[in-house]
Amino acid sequence: MMMPRDTSTIDGAQVQRDTVRRVWGFARPYRLTISVFLVSILLAALLALVPPLVVREILDDAIPSADRSAIWWLAGAAVAAALADAGLQIVQRWCSARVGEGLIADLRTSLFAKVQRLPLAFFTRTPTGAITSRLNNDVVGAQTAVTSTLGSVVSNVIVLVTTLAAMLVLEWRLTLLALAVLPMFVIPARRVGRRLQDISREQMQYNAAMNTQMTERFNVAGAALVKMFGSLGREQRVFAARADSVRDAGVRAAMLGRVFFVALGLVAAVGTAAIYGIGAQLVVSGDISTGTLVALAALVTRVYQPLTGLTNARVDLMTSMVSFERVFEVLDAPEPIRDRPGAVDLVAPRGDVSFVDVTFRYPPASDVAIATMEQQAVPGADPDRDVLTGLDLDLPAGTTVALVGSSGAGKSTLASLISRLYDVTTGSVSIDGHDVRDLTLDSLRAAVGVVAQDPHLFHESIGDNLRYARPDATDAEVIAACTAARIHDVIAGLPDGYDTVVGERGYRLSGGEKQRLAIARLLLKDPAIVILDEATSHLDNDNESQIQASIDIALRGRTALVIAHRLSTVRSADRIAVLEAGQIVESGTHDELVALDGRYAAQLRAGELLTPT
Ligand code: ATP
Repeated sequence: MMMPRDTSTIDGAQVQRDTVRRVWGFARPYRLTISVFLVSILLAALLALVPPLVVREILDDAIPSADRSAIWWLAGAAVAAALADAGLQIVQRWCSARVGEGLIADLRTSLFAKVQRLPLAFFTRTPTGAITSRLNNDVVGAQTAVTSTLGSVVSNVIVLVTTLAAMLVLEWRLTLLALAVLPMFVIPARRVGRRLQDISREQMQYNAAMNTQMTERFNVAGAALVKMFGSLGREQRVFAARADSVRDAGVRAAMLGRVFFVALGLVAAVGTAAIYGIGAQLVVSGDISTGTLVALAALVTRVYQPLTGLTNARVDLMTSMVSFERVFEVLDAPEPIRDRPGAVDLVAPRGDVSFVDVTFRYPPASDVAIATMEQQAVPGADPDRDVLTGLDLDLPAGTTVALVGSSGAGKSTLASLISRLYDVTTGSVSIDGHDVRDLTLDSLRAAVGVVAQDPHLFHESIGDNLRYARPDATDAEVIAACTAARIHDVIAGLPDGYDTVVGERGYRLSGGEKQRLAIARLLLKDPAIVILDEATSHLDNDNESQIQASIDIALRGRTALVIAHRLSTVRSADRIAVLEAGQIVESGTHDELVALDGRYAAQLRAGELLTPT
């Protein structure tokens, strides 16, 4: 009769095997270094046999025959072995550091590249701290395994095999006796490994939570919020609780590891004592020589040491698998928005944009988030609501369309579909007749420029931020773009001019100045299509006219979709599209729509849509 099989263990073992195979994939480029490492370990193991054998020779042969020169030669051999061993140790350290650090760099680079390719939806759902924690803590956890564990497994196996071989040759009965304690090493290791895996998982999670709290609170906006709400004490308590949890888990792991290690040491001591006791009896009865017993006593520690090392390595390896699993979980995350096979470049775009029967719903967390990074990533946890439903809209090349609609109508959502920050659920968005999903992302994104309401600047100089759009732009081009965007005079007036560091912790630009800087960046990029999210905040007249002038330049000769908040922008647009309930409900010029006396006219009268400047 077939016994029922424990499939969970089989699956777990399969997962571990797959993980190990993938780890090996990352180790492949280091095959040569690993080979040198292994050879040097083998040589070191052989060399380690020299001292006990030297002692045996001296005791059993050289001393009884009073061969003084042989004694010197044997002592010299021990020195030579020690010298060679020292050299090998350095070679080994270099190899293991090279492989370990190399693996960290490779894993981090792969993770960075992967995370960059993940859809925007992933970033809207995942706290930054959770992502950086994977790149920092988990990667280091994974590396520790490879450098210390892998090295120790190999060296211990070699030491164990060579030592056992030597012992068996010397005296096989005592060797078997020494091995009788073997099960005591193997059996508890698995259980301890599992427990340490749990603790490690717990630690990683608390680390990620601490990281998230730090990245969210230690930026200008977060720090201001904490201060305004006077919640310093509360924040500190939450942080301290998390730090304490990591500490407690660390202490538990250390204690468990130490108790296990000490227990193994005791087992080894019992085995060694047995060799002394029974071996000495055999010497007394004349079965073996004193030299053999001394050599065996020296060798037996070289059996228990690697056995302890191997058992610990197994436990460490199990623990580090947790880190690898967490790293691979990110590397395996789906990339829904990427180049289709056979995607074509959008060459010399004219900028005809059209939305045909577009329905859009934000993807559920289960599709875009990583479960262990976000608690909401469970099926059914999202509101299933279409933001856009059967929407049609044309943006003919070179025209400006002002998009208006109440807050939450879906204006930003609609704009984000053009550059494929999200993909439509059904229907299509096309540029110059190409469905955007058939275009390469690089060429698509080169064709579309965005100026957000509150544009993001990196913590770099103004010049570097501008050149982000075009790294090879000359100084003259940068200045020309800034002059056109009406921001050059402001920059020139700063103490360090274009070298002034801006962004989160740099010089603070006003909202209007930031938007003009973003427009200068857009001019450097020179895209065929522009998406502009007008600032809602009220600007003074001077700023207002400067912004208007720079926007006029930015939109000239391009297809523009302006999420409009100002009457002046709407009036000057070629066409106005009114978005309500996920559809374009009215479209025409300002005068046409006022004459129509529909939603636009009503909302205009109610002052809901636009700032009347
Ligand atoms: P506003 O003028 O206030 O900026 P909007 O017209 O640009 O609003 P959108 O930001 O496009 O509106 O939002 C449309 C709807 O989609 C809203 O109900 C919003 O809650 C929802 N929404 C926006 N972003 C996301 C997201 N990342 N995930 C899920 N739902 C979202």
